[in-house]
Amino acid sequence: MSPPTFRLYNTLTHETEPVEPIEDEHLRFYSCGPTVYTYAHIGNFRSFLTADLIRRTAAAIGWDVTCVSNVTDVGHLTQDDLVDPGGRDKMQQALEREGERFANIYDLARHYTEAFLEDWRALNLREPEVRPRATEHVTEQLRAVIELVETDHAYVTDKGVYFRVESVEDYGHLSGNTEAQQLQATERDVVDDPDKRDPRDFALWKHDPDHLMHWHSPWGWGYPGWHIECSVMGMQYLGDRFDLHTGGEDLIFPHHDCEIAQNQALAGQQVINYWVHTRFLQVEGEKMSKSKGNFYTVRDLINPDPDDDHVPEFVRQRGGVDPLALRYALLQGQYRKPFNFTIDTLRTASRHVQRFQEASERVDDAVEADVDGPDPIGPELGDIYDRMLAAMCDDLNTPAATAAALEGVNLIEQADTLSGAAAISARHWLEQTNDLLGIVESEHTGDAAPTDDETALPAAPLANAIDDLLTDREAARDDGEYARADAIRDTLEALGIEVMDTPEGAEWRRTADA
Ligand code: AMP
Ligand code: ZN
Repeated sequence: MSPPTFRLYNTLTHETEPVEPIEDEHLRFYSCGPTVYTYAHIGNFRSFLTADLIRRTAAAIGWDVTCVSNVTDVGHLTQDDLVDPGGRDKMQQALEREGERFANIYDLARHYTEAFLEDWRALNLREPEVRPRATEHVTEQLRAVIELVETDHAYVTDKGVYFRVESVEDYGHLSGNTEAQQLQATERDVVDDPDKRDPRDFALWKHDPDHLMHWHSPWGWGYPGWHIECSVMGMQYLGDRFDLHTGGEDLIFPHHDCEIAQNQALAGQQVINYWVHTRFLQVEGEKMSKSKGNFYTVRDLINPDPDDDHVPEFVRQRGGVDPLALRYALLQGQYRKPFNFTIDTLRTASRHVQRFQEASERVDDAVEADVDGPDPIGPELGDIYDRMLAAMCDDLNTPAATAAALEGVNLIEQADTLSGAAAISARHWLEQTNDLLGIVESEHTGDAAPTDDETALPAAPLANAIDDLLTDREAARDDGEYARADAIRDTLEALGIEVMDTPEGAEWRRTADA
């Protein structure tokens, strides 16, 4: 049987369309990643999950997939809903808030990137083929900005370099924002630059020698605007034409409208055919917010601090839920519909994920026992999988796909005995289900923690040296060499570093007088 047609809603055309890759049976796409100034919340992961489901569905219908997903570690300003935002760089602001904990801004980026990758793996998301970091692609971004100035798509003022939106046709087409709306938005614009030609023009480069991350450019010291990184890194790794781009709904305007304009100017053509956006997640019927106490990071739910009373009782009691239960809960809303995450959904998801795991163990035992007998469930499981795949191909209808998956697990649970043949069918079905939805077992179990290489950022020498000393101290204590361990602690104290032993291992912070 030929696989169903994979259809997705395209924000660009406002239609649900068959996805037709430019290269035959090879989907190439870019997914906007996190800004690594804090721990990612469950809403962020609703958006990342959409990208994961697109790649899993494409693979399930036999396509190759190449995915690029970035890490934003510079240039994302606080007022990111404005076309040319003012405000402060989120990274720099975080360092000022949490300075005590980090040696410098690169150390902060490294910490939150590692935490993000841990959460990513915990939620059983597949790794992108390339995970570029903005700070490692500044030269390429500079090259693009120079080209845009040379081709008259951009101009230079004392404060930076701006993209001239009049230089491309149809600016704002993706969001449908009219010129009037954009102008209204820019009334709040705190970028005070009398040399800006049009209030809608947005920064490609910001002149700021005092920014904690700054690079040398033909226009002096500064840093790149937020939008240019995704255009540059997308085209660098996927070429001048690729299939699809994902992100949360807040990115439609201005981030993706600006990306489209930059792409058009750099490549001289439309670069991306399909734009897929995830609706925001709400919690218990409200927008997540710290003041409402309904703001959950992934780690609040899978590895909570037992003393943090904003963590729901159900989660705290069990020392955190199975990360796959969180994944399962997020699947209960189709990505394009408003989704209300509740602790009840999480509770139900925990039960269901446990059923998949118990069924999987039972099936393993039955495969091993290999009892003679018929296979009454194989054909029905095959039908169920076809329905799951059809649901996923229908604009990622995850509620329908998980409902069908539950029918399958029911069937396995209700079989009195599982013959060897039935067990092999069930094993095959569980593997297919896991490949498609990722809810039976994690593909990352036993993976090493992300290596320095994978999270490579410009070196943070002090932080690295401290980490090394702490590892030595741990080893000394494991070997019973307490005098050596104490000597290492003294050395760190002399450097102005206080060591705190926690159940998760040693942590450090700078002492106030350091
Ligand atoms: P950021 O770390 O702010 O750059 O955001 C990372 C991704 O999460 C982006 O694609 C955002 O659009 C998305 N996002 C942020 N908040 C939510 C939310 N409540 N629900 C779904 N996606 C979100
Ligand atoms: Zn982006």
